[in-house]
Amino acid sequence: MIFLDNASTTKMHPEVIAEMNEINSINYYNPSSLYKQGVSLSTLIDNKRKELISMLGGASSDSLVFTSGATEANNFALRGALKKNGKLLVSKAEHPSVYNLAKQLQLEGYNVDFVNLAQNGLVDEQDLFNKLEGTTVVSLIHVCNETGAINDIKTLVKKIKSYNKNIIVHSDGVQAFGKVASNVTSLGVDLYTISAHKIHGPKGVGALFVKNGVKLKPFIYGGEQENNLRAGTQNVSGICGLTEAAKVTLSHLEESYHNAVALKTHLVGRLSEFSRVVLTTQEGYSPYIITLSVPKLKSEILLHLLEEKGILIGNGSACSSKHSDNRILSSMGLSNELVNSSVRISLSFHNTIAEMNEFVDALKAVVNEYFNKIK
Ligand code: PMP
Repeated sequence: MIFLDNASTTKMHPEVIAEMNEINSINYYNPSSLYKQGVSLSTLIDNKRKELISMLGGASSDSLVFTSGATEANNFALRGALKKNGKLLVSKAEHPSVYNLAKQLQLEGYNVDFVNLAQNGLVDEQDLFNKLEGTTVVSLIHVCNETGAINDIKTLVKKIKSYNKNIIVHSDGVQAFGKVASNVTSLGVDLYTISAHKIHGPKGVGALFVKNGVKLKPFIYGGEQENNLRAGTQNVSGICGLTEAAKVTLSHLEESYHNAVALKTHLVGRLSEFSRVVLTTQEGYSPYIITLSVPKLKSEILLHLLEEKGILIGNGSACSSKHSDNRILSSMGLSNELVNSSVRISLSFHNTIAEMNEFVDALKAVVNEYFNKIK
C-alpha cells in the first residue's frame, strides 16, 4: 500500500508510540490528584507545555493550552478571543473548523466577514484591508490543507497590526508546523493552532499557542485544568505523544522538506507528460501537497480506482470529504470541471521516488482504462 494522504493524517513515529505506552501502562494517574503520582504528572504536563512553546519559537512568558485536536483549538481561539461587540474576519481558505464556526458565529449574531482569495489561492490582501474596519479578531490559515498555498502570515500580521495593534491574529498552523518555517514569534501571531496527528503523533490531541498578554474566555467549563480555560482531565499520553512527535519531526524538518521538494518536483515533471492531467498546484506552494485534476473524471471515482491499485490519495479536506465542499478551489476561480475532478496527493518523509513512479504509472493506467471504457 502506498499512502499519499498525509495531510489527512500520518503514521505515528515509533518514539511517540513508546512514550505513550509508558504513560498508559505505568504512569496512568490523574494529573489533578494530590498524591505524588498526580503531582508529578502535572509537572510533566507543564514541562511538555514549555517544550512545545519553545519548539514553536515562543517566549517563556507565552502560554499554550492543550486541546482535543486542532478543531477544538480553532474553535477555542475564535470563541475565546471574540467579544459580543467585536468583529471576526476569516479567509475563504480556512479549514471547516474555522470557516463553519465563523458561519455559526454569524448565526449567533456576531459580526463576521469573509476575505476573498486571489487566483493563486492566497488571501486577497486588498480585500482583507478593505474589510479591516472595526475588526477585532482575524483568522488566516498558514498553509491551506486543500491546496498547499502558503500565506505570508508574517507580512500580513505586520500590516494588520500597523492598521490596529489591538486586532488579535490567529493562524491555523496545522499544515505548516513541522513542515515549513513556523516560528510564532517571527510570524507575530497572537494565537496559533497545531495538531498532533498531522506530524506523526496521535489523533485527538492538539494545542493552541497563546501569546503573552492575549486574554481568552474559557472554552470548556468544569475543573481548573489548563489554567481554567479548558476543563477536563488532560490527555496525558496524548500530550506526551504530541510533544515527542513535534521533537522528532522538527529534528528532521530540513531533510523532510528537501525530500518533499524532490518528490514533488519529480511527480510534477512526470505528470506534466500526461495530457489528461491538469496540475493545479502553483509556484511557492507547500512541497508536501500536490493538487491535480483529470477533467471529466470525478475525484471520488479516481480516488477509488487508485485505491483498488493500493494507492491512497485524498480529495480536498478529509474532514469534509463526505460532503462536496468546493469552496476553496471555487473561490480561486477554478472551473467546475477542474473542481469536481480535483484530487490531493500529500506527502511525508516516508514517501519515496519509487512510490511517485508507481503512483504515476497507476494513475495513467486507471485513467486510460476509464476513458477507454466510457468511449
Ligand atoms: N486545520 C487544518 C488546516 C487541518 O488540515 C485539519 C485536519 N484536516 C484541522 C484543522 C483539524 O485537525 P484535527 O483533526 O486535529 O481536529
